[in-house]
Amino acid sequence: MTDLSTLLRGAAFDPATLAKLDEAEEFPADACAALDDFGLPGYYVPAEHGGVLRGFDEVATLLREVAGRDLTVAVAHGKTYLGAVATWIAGEPAAAARLGERIRAGAVVSCALTERAHGSDLLGGEVTARPAGDGWTLDGEKWLINNATRAELVTVLAKTDPAGGPRGFTLFLLDKNRLEPGALTPSPKVPTYGVRGADISGIVLRDARVGADAVIGPVGHGIEIILKALHITRTACVAMSLGAGDHALELAGAFARETVVDGRPLADRPAIQRVLADAAAALDLASAAATVAVRAITGLPRELSVHSAVAKAFVPAQVDDLIARLTVALGPYGLLGADFRHGAFAKLERDARIIGIFDGSSLVNRNSLIDQFRRLSRAWRKGEWNVSGLAEVTTPDAAPSPFRPGALSLVTDGNSVLTALPGAARAMTASDRLTGLVDRVVAATTGVHEEMAALTIRPHAVPPAAFELAERYELCYAAAAGIHLWLHEPRPAGETRLVALLERALTGVGAR
Ligand SMILES: Cc1cc2nc3c(=O)[nH]c(=O)nc-3n(C[C@H](O)[C@H](O)[C@H](O)COP(=O)(O)OP(=O)(O)OC[C@H]3O[C@@H](n4cnc5c(N)ncnc54)[C@H](O)[C@@H]3O)c2cc1C
Repeated sequence: MTDLSTLLRGAAFDPATLAKLDEAEEFPADACAALDDFGLPGYYVPAEHGGVLRGFDEVATLLREVAGRDLTVAVAHGKTYLGAVATWIAGEPAAAARLGERIRAGAVVSCALTERAHGSDLLGGEVTARPAGDGWTLDGEKWLINNATRAELVTVLAKTDPAGGPRGFTLFLLDKNRLEPGALTPSPKVPTYGVRGADISGIVLRDARVGADAVIGPVGHGIEIILKALHITRTACVAMSLGAGDHALELAGAFARETVVDGRPLADRPAIQRVLADAAAALDLASAAATVAVRAITGLPRELSVHSAVAKAFVPAQVDDLIARLTVALGPYGLLGADFRHGAFAKLERDARIIGIFDGSSLVNRNSLIDQFRRLSRAWRKGEWNVSGLAEVTTPDAAPSPFRPGALSLVTDGNSVLTALPGAARAMTASDRLTGLVDRVVAATTGVHEEMAALTIRPHAVPPAAFELAERYELCYAAAAGIHLWLHEPRPAGETRLVALLERALTGVGAR
């Protein structure tokens, strides 16, 4: 089988072709078909349901690599995991095995939560499912849905109790091949700022009859299942942001080396070197947070509500910021269409924005982090953490534990990555410069937890200071992730990078 990096250099991923498709707002079908042939769909299916997914590192690495070439393709292809994950969590082996087989055979699966009037507010959903004979009838519209038109199967969240509420919604897996004609009509493709070629559309359901076997998990448990599913997808999808960051850094570096101004390459100028070095440190910081959070899916599942919120709020924001800074280095060529590498930088700048919006925006994730401030500050005071879970998430090459959907929880009892930080810092032997920075990270983290404990938050009236505090919490998390990872693999070259990473984090926290 061709390896992924060879495939990404092949004809289907030719940057000129992908740029033309983007301009024409056409779906990158050949690139997605090439990923099917490579076997990427198998990584969306857990091993116990017939696929090859064990730990989440591997699939995250693959999606980062694809996004590093073209983010639209990664978003279009990776969506099938989001479409399927509710079925993996619901724990019905026969249904999961059936879906696994369809995905491995190439079926695209979409996930339809959003409605025109309700995005992040899932409890506001108005699509209904009413009992009909031994099945259900669904009505209403889901809109702004990735792959809604191309998908064979769609996971739909529908209101099953007219009163709504946390137990008023149920998830259904709709198989378009089994619906009556006219029961499901795709809405037209929505023109978008980035990911222009992606199939962003919707579905209108009219008297759509499905059997009882379409229900995912118990009736009335749709919100709980999808929130747990989002904890996983929010964590894994930031790999695509990192891919965009890799691509941006690669393009900016090439531009700086190849562009000669006043007789010398841009790359020789200290100001440009500084921009590139800062961007590399920002990407290392985002990458450390993402690496630990992705491993937490199997290593620290009871805490995933906090790791996922941090990853989804922090990583896309950090990558958007570094792309904006790199635009300075590229000057107008970062924004022009065909002049530099087929306008790839301008395209990725547009495409990357979407990761911070779908699956819950940075603000929505920060809000979810703020909701857990009390529990997190209590756990910090107690100073206890999950020793084996932390070892799994911070040790490179550690075999992942089996995925345990039953251990997922809507709220966490703590955050082992931060609670273990002071002890890890005490055990560290490193240069004076590095130890000094680590001590400052510990002091900043202590201060953030003290502020979290002191904050009074009224539901639906979260003060702006809480969001600012959440941002500082995220920076402490990313710095702690970098420290833990380095402790398990200290290298002299790694020390220079860790210093840059910590300086970047401390600048953000305002504690440098
Ligand atoms: C390209 C694209 C692809 C998409 N794909 C899918 C898909 O496949 N499936 C799907 O179901 N949906 C999809 N969506 C929809 C997407 O998930 C929603 O747009 C997103 O959840 C935001 O919802 P909304 O647009 O209703 O905004 P709202 O939720 O109404 O939010 C509006 C603003 O309020 C802010 N906000 C909301 N809640 C809070 C809070 N608690 N605290 C502070 N600020 C808050 C938001 O950050 C945002 O700035 C997609 C959207 C796009 C653009």
